[in-house]
Amino acid sequence: MRTLFAVVFLSMAFQVGAQTHKTKNVVVVLMDGYRWKEIFQGADSMIWDNRKWAPQDTGFRNQYWADDVHVRRAKLMPFVWSTMVKNGQLYGNRDLGNLVNVRNNYWFSYPGRSETFCGYYDSLVNSNSYPDNPNENVLEFINKQPGYQGKVVSFASWDAVARIINRDRNGMLINIYDEDVKGDHLTPVQNELNVMQHNMPDVFGKGERLDVMTFYMGKAYMQQNHPKVVYFDFGDTDDWAHMGKYAMYLDAAHKSDAMLSELWSYLQSDPFYKDQTTLLVVCDHGRGYVDKWTSHGSAIPHADETYLLMMGPDTPAKGEMNNQTQIYQDQYAQTIAELLGFHFTANHPVGKPIQGTK
Ligand SMILES: [Zn+2]
Repeated sequence: MRTLFAVVFLSMAFQVGAQTHKTKNVVVVLMDGYRWKEIFQGADSMIWDNRKWAPQDTGFRNQYWADDVHVRRAKLMPFVWSTMVKNGQLYGNRDLGNLVNVRNNYWFSYPGRSETFCGYYDSLVNSNSYPDNPNENVLEFINKQPGYQGKVVSFASWDAVARIINRDRNGMLINIYDEDVKGDHLTPVQNELNVMQHNMPDVFGKGERLDVMTFYMGKAYMQQNHPKVVYFDFGDTDDWAHMGKYAMYLDAAHKSDAMLSELWSYLQSDPFYKDQTTLLVVCDHGRGYVDKWTSHGSAIPHADETYLLMMGPDTPAKGEMNNQTQIYQDQYAQTIAELLGFHFTANHPVGKPIQGTK
């Protein structure tokens, strides 16, 4: 009898295991310094009604404004508020008591990304010009697992991502600002994109390419090479916000949403990715409220407030999360590892996975 029970139990366990690990691929999209408020509340009248931030923006106002918050947020991010809310989990609506915060005390970009991908807050990582990150991240951990070698890639608008993910240590493909995608079998589209990025205006004047380049270079690589883990790092939202251009910030978010939509359509149209890929949308830090919206950092209240949007074959479709819980950004790395059936270990402690995401 004991043997029979054991066999039944093991076969049940195996089935449960099989059911919980449909995810074979993960795509992470990071939106630098994009606030939870715009995701869950849409365009913010506290900012937009101040002509200092939004002069002459009638066209954008027609496009993104509605008095009803549910209509307004869906105008800004239609993919998030149709496909993602229907099929995934959206964490971080503080109006419902669902809290997401960074664990670190800095509230800016390098520390935020480091915490996200290392699953760890290292107080020594305290500058955007910090050299190569000494902390191991979940991307390079996955890249060492059987079947994943050379299949973990990143495309970033900002060059610091190469140091944050430390490609000098792990040798992964991390394509950043001004770098061409190399290879013997580039498609015509890839060749064109390599040229195009150099002919694009340097809008922000500080060594960052527009996200549209980062996205299409990454997408073209996916179509040709089918990497299993892809990290897109977008920066337009943060850059427009620092410049105090609220309408452009909203427009960048809207276009990121359109790229998320295109990405998901692609994933679900390619048999390699279809129904076995989980998408996560994250950020590195929040920003202030009202007149402090342009800025972030530990001196700016609320700049530690973030969110997590995710959708995939293992993630129960709970939609907009309204349970009163608190999650932290250092929990994402282990959550990503477990989606793929791995347990992330590194040269530092790792935050616990988020419960209920698979
Ligand atoms: Zn940032």
